[in-house]
Amino acid sequence: MTTAAVATALDPVAVAAEFPILSRRVHGARLAYLDNAATTQKPRVVIDAVRRFYEEDNAAVHRAVHTLGGRATDAVESARRAVARFLHAEDSDEIVFVRGVTEAMNLLAFSLGASLTTGDEVIVPLSEHHSNLLPWREACRRSGATLRFAALTDDGAIDLPAFDALLTERTRIVSLAHVTNVLGTINPVRDVVARARAVGAIAIVDGAQSACHLPIDVGRIGCDFYAISGHKMYAPTGVGAVFGRRERWKDMLPWQTGGSTVERVTLDEVRWADPPARFEAGSPNAAGIVGLAAAIDWLRGVGLECIAAHESALAQRAHEGLSALPGVRVPGPGAGRAPVLAFIAEGVHPHDLATLLDGVGVAVRAGHHCAQPLADWLGVPATTRASFAAYNTAEDADALVAGVARALEMLR
Ligand code: PMP
Repeated sequence: MTTAAVATALDPVAVAAEFPILSRRVHGARLAYLDNAATTQKPRVVIDAVRRFYEEDNAAVHRAVHTLGGRATDAVESARRAVARFLHAEDSDEIVFVRGVTEAMNLLAFSLGASLTTGDEVIVPLSEHHSNLLPWREACRRSGATLRFAALTDDGAIDLPAFDALLTERTRIVSLAHVTNVLGTINPVRDVVARARAVGAIAIVDGAQSACHLPIDVGRIGCDFYAISGHKMYAPTGVGAVFGRRERWKDMLPWQTGGSTVERVTLDEVRWADPPARFEAGSPNAAGIVGLAAAIDWLRGVGLECIAAHESALAQRAHEGLSALPGVRVPGPGAGRAPVLAFIAEGVHPHDLATLLDGVGVAVRAGHHCAQPLADWLGVPATTRASFAAYNTAEDADALVAGVARALEMLR
């Protein structure tokens, strides 16, 4: 394999220079950080935005009339508008801030789940992350509804004819990842959402793995809800957002109650506030929200199309290199995938492999990646996963392939 740079308009070395942590060395080696599907690193502009918020604007939001209170509230509301623009939502009131996709799915499963009843059905693909599976399992358990799993084709895509066969007038909710976190499958969300809505179901998309790779347009997708996690898109941890159509939020009850969620409380009754406040109980992670807006700004500046082309070239390079190694298999789609590659090396445990890779500065993830039904489907307890971001280089992809080749010689 050559070490020629991947030909795209993005200069990953210049991008990497914006990320302080990437200049660190690990075990004396240059760091090839390939665990981006777990969490991305943060550019200096995001770190600075968080620091600046604490140094210049910090106060409780939506409460204080003093100057800092106003500045902090403005910063959060301006971030809400930035998220709305990023997702192409019509109105910033359709955006609810949460801790991440896990919290978004718990909110939706609790709040929408309250109207489920025996005989109703919820569908998720079997490739889902536990965060988009367990909240629905629990909502079904509480309500008596039935959870159905959409099957996959051999290359890990949703089996659409089988999905169609599951869809009936009993289907109340369909929830699926835009991009899956193990196989990197880009699900045909627009198509699935249209099919779900045609039977009157609510369509929910988990955007944890897509928002940093693909431009998102919730109007075009046609979904009722779309959730994102900040920490997987260059923003701080502990912040995320969920878009919901105005007419959906309007009729939903809060899943957590407390400060901010009410318009009026007496000793006898409560009148809930309008969305989004109804769904944002307690003091929000204002600094994180400001960091999310800075990350969105940064992503727009670099350009999502540009990032996608760059990452896809890297993923293809790694895919070819890994597949050429003896006894190594990369399940999932051959082409048209997101830059997430889980692979299986015959006779080698993923944890041993990941440990040896760490020794040469290559950071990957080993495990079931919080998608155990998918691991069962693959017939393995765990896989090794490499995932790419805007700052990764062809050198990183090559370090991965060379590191795996060397590790296999040692472990076999
Ligand atoms: N869905 C998918 C597809 C994910 O990859 C993840 C994170 N691994 C989540 C949901 C949960 O996201 P968070 O931990 O940020 O809440």
